Amino acid sequence: MPLHPLPPLFHRLDREHFEGQLAGLHQPELRIRWSDGRMTRTAGLYRRGPGLSEIVLSRPLLVPLPLEATLSTLCHEMIHAWVDRVLRVREAHGPNFRASMQRINRAQQQFEVSLRHRYPLPAVVAGWIAVCPSCGRTASYRRRRQGLACRPCCEAHNGGRWDQRFALSFVRAPEASSG
Ligand SMILES: [Zn+2]
Ligand SMILES: [Zn+2]
Repeated sequence: MPLHPLPPLFHRLDREHFEGQLAGLHQPELRIRWSDGRMTRTAGLYRRGPGLSEIVLSRPLLVPLPLEATLSTLCHEMIHAWVDRVLRVREAHGPNFRASMQRINRAQQQFEVSLRHRYPLPAVVAGWIAVCPSCGRTASYRRRRQGLACRPCCEAHNGGRWDQRFALSFVRAPEASSG
C-alpha cells in the first residue's frame, strides 16, 4: 500500500485551520512523520521534549484505511500541537482542544476530528493487519495466518525463499485510539 506523503496534508490543514501557525514554529520546529511498523496501540501521537516537538502517525494502523482516517488523526494531533505550542496551554482534551475540534468539524466535510478515533472499517480491514518486522509493510487479513513472511523482503534479501527474519506479525485491526 502506498505511503501518503505527510507534508502536503500538514500544510493544507495548517493553512485552512491554523492560519499557518504550525509551519511557522521554530526552536524546535514541529516535525511530522510516519511511525515504523510497530506503532500499533495508537493511531497518532503528539510529543514534546527538550529540542523535540513532533507528530507521529501510525503506519500499520492508518495506511490500510481511507485517507480520511489519516486526515482526521493528523488534524487531531495538530490541535494538540497548536494548544501546546501556540496557545501555550497545558491540557489534554480540554476546553481549548474541544473548541478547536468543533470549529474544524463545522468548517469542512471531508473528515471528522474526534476525541477517540472510531473508523468505519471496510470489511476487508475488519480483522487483522500483518506487519513485516523488517520493512514495515502492512497488509490486511480477515483471519490470522501462520507462517507467512514478507514477500518483497524475502525476494530482496533471501533469493525469494521464506525467512524467519521476515515472518509477519499479526495485530488486531483498529478501532484505534488516539493520543
Ligand atoms: Zn518486508
Ligand atoms: Zn488526543
